[in-house]
Amino acid sequence: MTDPILAMPLKVAARVDQVFPTLTAAQIARIAAHGRTRRIQQGEVLLEVGDQLRFFVVFTGEVNMLSGRRQFARIRASTDGEVIEVEREQLVSLVQTDSELSEILMRAFILRRVELIAQQVGDAVLVGSNHSADTLRIKEFLTRNGYPHAYVDLDRDSDVQQLLDRFHVSLADIPVVICRGESVLRNPTNRQIADCLGFNEAIDRTHVRDLVVIGAGPSGLAAAVYGASEGLDVLVLESNAPGGQAGSSSKIENYLGFPTGISGQELAGRAYTQAQKFGAQILIAKCARRLACDRKPYAIELDDGERAPARAVIIATGAVYRRLSLDNAAQLEGAGVYYGATFVESQLCRAEEVIVVGGGNSAGQAAVFLAQTSKCVHMLVRSDGLAASMSRYLIRRIEENPGINLRTCTEIVSLEGNEHLERVAWRDNRTGKIDTRNIRHIFVMTGAVPNTAWLGGCVLLDAKGFIKTGTDLSRDDLMTAHWPLTRSPYLLETSLPGVFAVGDVRSGNVKRVASAVGEGSIAVASVHQVLRE
Ligand SMILES: Cc1cc2nc3c(=O)[nH]c(=O)nc-3n(C[C@H](O)[C@H](O)[C@H](O)COP(=O)(O)OP(=O)(O)OC[C@H]3O[C@@H](n4cnc5c(N)ncnc54)[C@H](O)[C@@H]3O)c2cc1C
Repeated sequence: MTDPILAMPLKVAARVDQVFPTLTAAQIARIAAHGRTRRIQQGEVLLEVGDQLRFFVVFTGEVNMLSGRRQFARIRASTDGEVIEVEREQLVSLVQTDSELSEILMRAFILRRVELIAQQVGDAVLVGSNHSADTLRIKEFLTRNGYPHAYVDLDRDSDVQQLLDRFHVSLADIPVVICRGESVLRNPTNRQIADCLGFNEAIDRTHVRDLVVIGAGPSGLAAAVYGASEGLDVLVLESNAPGGQAGSSSKIENYLGFPTGISGQELAGRAYTQAQKFGAQILIAKCARRLACDRKPYAIELDDGERAPARAVIIATGAVYRRLSLDNAAQLEGAGVYYGATFVESQLCRAEEVIVVGGGNSAGQAAVFLAQTSKCVHMLVRSDGLAASMSRYLIRRIEENPGINLRTCTEIVSLEGNEHLERVAWRDNRTGKIDTRNIRHIFVMTGAVPNTAWLGGCVLLDAKGFIKTGTDLSRDDLMTAHWPLTRSPYLLETSLPGVFAVGDVRSGNVKRVASAVGEGSIAVASVHQVLRE
């Protein structure tokens, strides 16, 4: 059997047994009950690039088996033999019901995907430049979706011109995504990339779901895992990539069960796979634009004009950092001004001086993370210290790290640069002194703004735009919202029956992964009650 996955040089030799496990006769017999045994001949192509995935023992497949996405490598038999062929639906049912095989297969699929990413084996090539904001956006989109791709850097790779000529692309078209070796997308939107790579192909959006979850951050993914594992027909809509804010965290150290910490990307990847294992379907790069709440079933209108009807809805759209209120900050976004500090951004500012703005946990985490690779980190905080808003363990790390200069009572007053940030001025508010430095990278992590503008008055919000739920809704609130039922709203229910809000988008949330995950699971318990009403 020739499979690029099988042929791949494994970095971690110790894992080979897990990536390519040998099944026992009893395990093979259990799989055979879900598939058909058939002869194959030398040279026969079992799967072609772009085919709907099927699973074969001797065993092929990786996480796309669960999502229903298409095959991105050809699989051809190198000798005559026999295989057991299992359709995707049968395989999903097998991993849901057979816990021993589920553990073996899920582990192998996830590790195979990790290796594909590490080896850049896949059907997408990004040609771009590290100085381009759109290159950064696309890189982040592919990375955060766990999509294996090759990156060709215009400024470093000498044979790039050859590649561009082959696909009739000029330098002005950069960044370019070459998708499945055929289509050339010139500076594509995330949605165009998702369409081209078939992220959402296998998902039906028209039938009425038990539950539609909007947002695939920790709270939305938790709702998907609990909902789907408890038998609900669940659709998740995600405007960007799974993981939300947590996905942009370099290391989460206070989430229960991970004593050595886990990166947000890794946590999100696991949760995403887990939700799919239980049958939840997740639309990527699809933004909810409006909630149609005037009649039931409710419907969520997407930015591409489609509608997803739902008997119950969980809003898990979280929050984003407040943008810097300086004239040219938007123009420099992605070109020196960043609102996340992941591995991708850290590579752009290696050995340079950087600034982190903010005094909360996420800013602290970013400062500690960036201090590992940058020349020095200036941490700018408007208040006179960190203690009020940051965990004690982070404060100590910042205080003890010689690579971090903490500057309290300080704020940015101007940014300079055209194509890229070149200079930054900050003011010490105690003395009024302004300091101008040649710094090319700033990471802004201040104040959260909830993603609720799209709700258009369907549910009641608090004064800052966060969604009110449960006992936070006063009698007056319920009258204003024309609450139609004799019962009060459930714990996380909004002012609209059957519509729930969880995580950072909810009024009174505590901005923690653990609470977001907990709320996702609590809301599902209430969804069951609503569906029975
Ligand atoms: C850098 C950083 C580090 C952090 N570190 C920690 C930590 O160490 N420990 C900890 O406990 N917490 C940490 N947090 C906080 C934690 O990440 C958040 O509390 C948590 O992510 C909230 O989860 P959520 O699902 O409610 O919202 P989010 O994570 O904000 O996810 C919301 C999702 O909804 C999507 N979305 C928004 N609008 C729409 C729409 N209209 N249609 C479709 N999708 C939409 C977004 O793209 C996003 O994926 C950190 C946060 C950041 C930013």
